[in-house]
Amino acid sequence: QLSPETPADHIFRSKLPDIPISNHLPLHTYCFENLPSLSDKPCLISGSSGKIYSFSETHLIAQKTAAGLSNLGIQKGDAIMILLHNCAEFVFAFMGASMIGAVSTTANPFYTSKEIFKQLKAARAKLIITQSQYVDKLKDTNNNDGDENFPKIGEDFKVITIDDPPENCLDFSMLSGANENEIPQVTIHPDDPVALPFSSGTTGLPKGVVLTHKSLITSVAQQVDGENPNLYLTHDDVVLCVLPLFHIYSLNSVLLCSLRAGAAVLLMQKFEIGTLLELIQRHKVSVAAVVPPLVVLLAKNPVVAQFDLSSIRVVLSGAAPLGKELEDALRGRVPQAVLGQGYGMTEAGPVLSMCLGFAKQPFPTKSGSCGTVVRNAELKVIDPETGCSLGYNQPGEICIRGSQIMKGYLNDGVATAATIDVEGWLHTGDIGYVDEDDEIFIVDRVKEIIKFKGFQVPPAELESLLISHPSIADAAVVPQKDEVAGEVPVAFVVRSNGFELTEEAVKEFIAKQVVYYKRLHKVHFVHAIPKSPSGKILRKDLRAKLAAAAPNT
Ligand code: AMP
Repeated sequence: QLSPETPADHIFRSKLPDIPISNHLPLHTYCFENLPSLSDKPCLISGSSGKIYSFSETHLIAQKTAAGLSNLGIQKGDAIMILLHNCAEFVFAFMGASMIGAVSTTANPFYTSKEIFKQLKAARAKLIITQSQYVDKLKDTNNNDGDENFPKIGEDFKVITIDDPPENCLDFSMLSGANENEIPQVTIHPDDPVALPFSSGTTGLPKGVVLTHKSLITSVAQQVDGENPNLYLTHDDVVLCVLPLFHIYSLNSVLLCSLRAGAAVLLMQKFEIGTLLELIQRHKVSVAAVVPPLVVLLAKNPVVAQFDLSSIRVVLSGAAPLGKELEDALRGRVPQAVLGQGYGMTEAGPVLSMCLGFAKQPFPTKSGSCGTVVRNAELKVIDPETGCSLGYNQPGEICIRGSQIMKGYLNDGVATAATIDVEGWLHTGDIGYVDEDDEIFIVDRVKEIIKFKGFQVPPAELESLLISHPSIADAAVVPQKDEVAGEVPVAFVVRSNGFELTEEAVKEFIAKQVVYYKRLHKVHFVHAIPKSPSGKILRKDLRAKLAAAAPNT
């Protein structure tokens, strides 16, 4: 239950003063506001080809892409799907869509056909921008679940590929070669949506998270705007973009923040440790946005010692908890760099807090802390049972309020109301506390989500697939701790009466339908799934069972 705010609410704010934020502008105008002073400066660097796009070129190609999208019939309010790895075309498509008031829903190109179509249908995307190697998945109608309205290439959506287009697909040059003077005049309101990432939030299936021009501008400004001091990024930085842009962490804190701050973005299409290190050395990367599994590699892989990483001044880790030992191990590898965490959640726009050790006049930051709440925002910690607000050093559910949070879930007022209360507080489902120096520490999660290397694995999605199996009567999926991935999904399965079913068969059944990180790592056969009187899975009990069976993991 979400309790109303009381006068006694203890509200935490940034240690830095609030700043004026231009969140009345459209996102692309805001991001390219400093274009006149940046024009020839490198904006995008392709890790694979070495091609460099200046700020002017990036802006111009985005404008052409906007005109091209419009020529293909995309209008204000329409959604397009960007199904790409990190590449310049991702940026042109996202910014181009923004310029005509369209919305980009970003998805993992490794998704299975089923996962792509679920998102495509929910977002009602009219066009997909992808690579030719993924087009077969878009033709796969085996996953239509008998649905006659299943989207079809050419009829329900157009497909554009950034490389040689297969039959029925268009070439990206249709967009990037259009005449920039043909961009239609549209009025964009700050509350219009611009990005539609999918997230399962605190419960249930993945849902479209409506992020508006205002939310994203506010979030970017909270990270990089203002005189005092240049937080996180400056125009001298070269920022590593190895985390996928389809996830809001990379889209916002790497791409949009860099565009706004005038930093160059080094785009890495796929992760390989040797290439990553070579590119850091060659392009003198100064800011590396990473996730904990990448920190493990940087801290422990012996090959790291062969490269010069002295250009790195900031390592920002986010999306999942980073332990102190790991942080210390990484410090040995990049002693000159400031290491710190950001804490985000897609629905929060996504950044709730950031390490202030990155600032020009840095605040000392404790190991394990996720920094302090961003400026122009309010954070409170509540007792999950009573909803009462808690003071310093008392763990509870973290809630955030500010213009950066999502407008709501797409077409899902019930889920929105369960996440953003009437006072405008977004309830994160994370348990944490704020210490006496205003630093935030995340200690647990009350929500269902499993995080595999920072990627979301929604238990409800796997449970609904499991229950669709004819030999499965009931199922529950919970996280198990894992040294490399952080967490892995593990299933408890009740076989239907009289049915034989092996662990391998269950794993294979799921593996065929989901992206690699949602695959089950273990299946436990049980007689019943523990449930509350209201029928809710008692996930805590199952997690405790796993912890008891493997006390050292
Ligand atoms: P996502 O919406 O995919 O970005 O996932 C958001 C969730 O990731 C948060 O609600 C947290 O549970 C977790 N998370 C993100 N950043 C951190 C962090 N620095 N430390 C601990 N957990 C984090």
